[in-house]
Amino acid sequence: MTTLPHHEAGDWPDVGNDEVPCCMGSAQHGARGCTCWQPVYDLAQMPPRAELEPDTRASMCDGCAYRPRSPERTGDPDAAADLDDLQRLAATGRPFWCHEGMRRPIEWRHPSGATVPGSPLDYQPLFVEGVPYRADGSPAARCGGWAAFRRKHEQRAGER
Ligand SMILES: [Zn+2]
Repeated sequence: MTTLPHHEAGDWPDVGNDEVPCCMGSAQHGARGCTCWQPVYDLAQMPPRAELEPDTRASMCDGCAYRPRSPERTGDPDAAADLDDLQRLAATGRPFWCHEGMRRPIEWRHPSGATVPGSPLDYQPLFVEGVPYRADGSPAARCGGWAAFRRKHEQRAGER
């Protein structure tokens, strides 16, 4: 089953790049190797405001990956992380970022005019020095679910 975002799964449709290759990638690997597809984002990206410190959310957002029935925790292949990843991030303290306000490709466009829809879970914020920025230019917040898992983890570690 490949419902990964196209740019990760490499399952771009054939847009006639076999007859006249549009790029080196498609000349060598056919439609799968095409590098011409460009994301069309839902939101315009403003310049990152690097002077702002990222916050940590006090609670989970509506679409939080740490919610029990989230796509991440139910193993949706479109999700960027699974339960193991979420637990590892919370345990190690590597931040998991809330997707709220991040841009997302609504579709991908090929110069031939062909388009494919984007994945609803494929957030693609602008990253600067490891920090993702929302479309409005403010830094993303650390996930509230992640912070709660992290507190629990530290509590357990303290009891040992
Ligand atoms: Zn191409």
